Amino acid sequence: MCQSRHLIYLTTLKDNEVICHELLLVKGFVEKICHCNIITLQDIKKNKIYQYTLVKNCNNFKFLIQLECGQNQYIINYCSASQRLNLFFEPSNSIYHIQPLYIIHQNHDGHFQTEDEKPNSPVEACKIIELNLKIVQCLFAEKLLESGLTNNLRKTFSLKSKCLIFHSKQSVEKALESDENTLWNDLAFEIINSNLGEDSKIKFVAFLACTRYNGKDLSGDTSYENIKKNTRANPALGGGGLALFGSGYFYSWPTTFEEIIDCFKNYKKIDLSTQLDESNYRRTYGGCFATTLGAIAHEIGHCFDLGHTKEGIMGNGFDYVNLAFVNEDFTENLPDRIVQTESVKDQRLTKIKKGENKFLENYHEQKGGGDCTYFSKNCSIILAHHKWFNLQNESDEKSEITFMKSIIKSSKFNLVLIEIREKVNGLVIQFYELLNRKHKEFEVPEHFTKLERYNIFVITENGDLKLFE
Ligand SMILES: [Zn+2]
Ligand SMILES: [Zn+2]
Repeated sequence: MCQSRHLIYLTTLKDNEVICHELLLVKGFVEKICHCNIITLQDIKKNKIYQYTLVKNCNNFKFLIQLECGQNQYIINYCSASQRLNLFFEPSNSIYHIQPLYIIHQNHDGHFQTEDEKPNSPVEACKIIELNLKIVQCLFAEKLLESGLTNNLRKTFSLKSKCLIFHSKQSVEKALESDENTLWNDLAFEIINSNLGEDSKIKFVAFLACTRYNGKDLSGDTSYENIKKNTRANPALGGGGLALFGSGYFYSWPTTFEEIIDCFKNYKKIDLSTQLDESNYRRTYGGCFATTLGAIAHEIGHCFDLGHTKEGIMGNGFDYVNLAFVNEDFTENLPDRIVQTESVKDQRLTKIKKGENKFLENYHEQKGGGDCTYFSKNCSIILAHHKWFNLQNESDEKSEITFMKSIIKSSKFNLVLIEIREKVNGLVIQFYELLNRKHKEFEVPEHFTKLERYNIFVITENGDLKLFE
């Protein structure tokens, strides 16, 4: 019997806390580690035990759990120590939602491209989409909590119903020929004009069934550029009320909750002749899962009015989402993602190259929750005040925001953030944080008032927002 007096601490959860999202990270650490390197979390309701192996020289642990509505009870055990945890899951009753969609074009059977024997029906696709958006939902809550800007509240978007299948009237042939902007425009138009488009309090996250990767034609050129050239109908574009994606990397995504952690830790090599590699040159299933899930978070971020930042999820830091969920020790060969921002409309990072290893420096700085995935401060301020992340009622009052002669004015609520964004690429080059200052007016420095060069983004404490362009 071990003589040490171990203590188990939880870093982000309180006993009896009410949680508004179904998937949850239970994070903490053990004080005084002995020879024992296993921590267990017992889910009493489901009668299941999850096991976590401590990483060498690290006393932190992470469990991903799936909550059931109402009360959930857990016991965390390490050696002789034991810690109880009660949590209540109450899905958010926000009036603003994300609706997941799986899009099937005319003349397409709805089966997505994947490994030979894996199920790939529309039903399977919907399962994958629902589960993985719940992971992104959890990521937003976790990262906002870590930002310290939410008064210790977990804030995230809420998901509306199950993933729905949307039959596009466009032919699959047309979709396969279209670039991502055209796909986005066409589908946004179709969705808005369908019965789904009547509710302005819904934003859509949609995945195309028809994404096609033809790896047989790479001819030895395995650069990401060439991979993209051989991929059709694979958009990753978010903004306004729609974030649109392909399905070519679903082979690396989990279908059930039990598979999630294994998918993040899957080091199996991608077969470039048949599988679309979106791993930022890691060439592993786990790398592809992390990068694509990070890209989803990035594009959904645009739907919530975030611009580009030099760092973090809205910049070049969305390849390592896996580290938010697992403690893994692999800093070798981290490739650097070069931020290339093109047009405002094309609000995404497209070109990926190996470059100077600035990313590695960022990694060592251990920003955010120590897992190198985070929203920069200005992005966190926007999300923390965004209507989609806060409980609202229909009759909420609004603030009129005006911009005249370099003065920004809010008619009712205090300003919390002003961002100066480059017009060409949406990159935030300067921001002014006005939290707790109770200002309804702000004077923009003269050199930033040229709207032909800059866009000015404004948000109030009430989540009223405006982009002057
Ligand atoms: Zn012990
Ligand atoms: Zn972007």
